Amino acid sequence: MSRSTLRSFTLLALAATTALAVACGTGGQPARPDVVATTSIIATLTKAVAGNEVTVGTIVGPGIDPHEYEASADDAARIGNARVLLRNGIGLDASLDRVIASSGQKIVVTVTDGIQLRRGESEGGKPEDDPHVWHDPRNAKIMVDAIAKALSTAFPDKASTFAKNAAAYNGKLDSTDAEIRRLIEGIPAANRKMVTNHDAFGYFIARYGLTYVGAVIPSVSTAGEASAKQLAELQETIKREGVKAIFAENSVEPKVAREIAKDTKITIVDDLYGDSLGKPGSGADTLDGMLLTNARKIANALK
Ligand SMILES: [Zn+2]
Repeated sequence: MSRSTLRSFTLLALAATTALAVACGTGGQPARPDVVATTSIIATLTKAVAGNEVTVGTIVGPGIDPHEYEASADDAARIGNARVLLRNGIGLDASLDRVIASSGQKIVVTVTDGIQLRRGESEGGKPEDDPHVWHDPRNAKIMVDAIAKALSTAFPDKASTFAKNAAAYNGKLDSTDAEIRRLIEGIPAANRKMVTNHDAFGYFIARYGLTYVGAVIPSVSTAGEASAKQLAELQETIKREGVKAIFAENSVEPKVAREIAKDTKITIVDDLYGDSLGKPGSGADTLDGMLLTNARKIANALK
């Protein structure tokens, strides 16, 4: 192939890629979705309820940290044009509050309302409400019901389909819950100890009888940072308790967690799904798939 042929071939390939990107919109999303969800977790639950009846858009996509997300003008337009906006609340998507308020969207539903919250760590040391409720499938079911209610209010003629889809997905969450329990029960009891990157897995830990030992970022937000003293104490605790692994999430670069794992000579699992779904095809691109993938990684590292 001559250099000029190669060049035109490259340009052609580039043009094809660009055309594909335009056709798919932002990450394969509909340009003007009927419903917009703030996070990938809420979006996947909404798609399970919506089926093919309405289109669903996501603001904070897979692999992206919702705690520190910066909204774009395009996000504001999609929120404003949708029939309803679904949010997590409890501080997780607070970075979007301003863009939601200025978008003109009147119907804003917090899908975690009514869930019993655990108190998690905060940078100030004062326990804070933990927004990562979906790591307990029972809470996810409450979210599914809230989403079905919100969609049925917005699109009343499709209510019976939403109710049917919600019941089917909640059944799936029940079987996922049972499967996770079996996986965690396979871990020797003395090894069921978790050190995480930020305090994001508290509901999972509580649901499946694991023990929370500490977090590298001792906060339910990723915005915090541990002091040198706190990190030294964490290292001591890891050694004293015989902790097997540190678990970090896919949406944050776990630099400090890696150093601590190295210093204490334990394993680091750096790809748990905490605050966001996995990419399409990862097996963690649904909530049930994400929870099950996490359980397998945890069981494997602690066995
Ligand atoms: Zn988080």
